[in-house]
Amino acid sequence: MPSHPSPFSPDVERQLLDRLLTVKSWISEFAKVMGKRNPPELKTWISGHMYYAPIRNVIKIPSTHLLTLPDNQLRVAVAHEMGHFSRRWPSFFSWTLVRRLNEEKIADRCSIMLTGATIEDWASSLIAVALIEDPGYLFEQDLVFQARKYVLQRWVNLKKAG
Ligand SMILES: [Zn+2]
Repeated sequence: MPSHPSPFSPDVERQLLDRLLTVKSWISEFAKVMGKRNPPELKTWISGHMYYAPIRNVIKIPSTHLLTLPDNQLRVAVAHEMGHFSRRWPSFFSWTLVRRLNEEKIADRCSIMLTGATIEDWASSLIAVALIEDPGYLFEQDLVFQARKYVLQRWVNLKKAG
């Protein structure tokens, strides 16, 4: 028995720890490439959204993401959060929709630069994360239609920013 209450079996716990170590190594690798000191800490909890918390300089990744996303998709998503880290305070103070979307575009570009992902790789990571975090949005009508609309919009924004 673990000394703390855990909702996971020992096998899943081990899998989670393993994944956390992998993500940690990506974070320090990305920080080095970006020439940044003090890379964000990594924290996990059960489920919800993945995000960067600027005040504590923490990337929060739910266990659902760690347990279900393949390496390539998770790596692109982590690199996106590193994009927010690179603009820690401008990103934090982006409270209007226009500024928020701009920060998302910048983070997406950063993610593509850090991982060398193609637009297709990036889009597949985006859809995979969206399916975990907000299935209601995508399944609202026709899944494929919604997903493509979502990705196309992000892609168009990315091109505009580029
Ligand atoms: Zn973001």
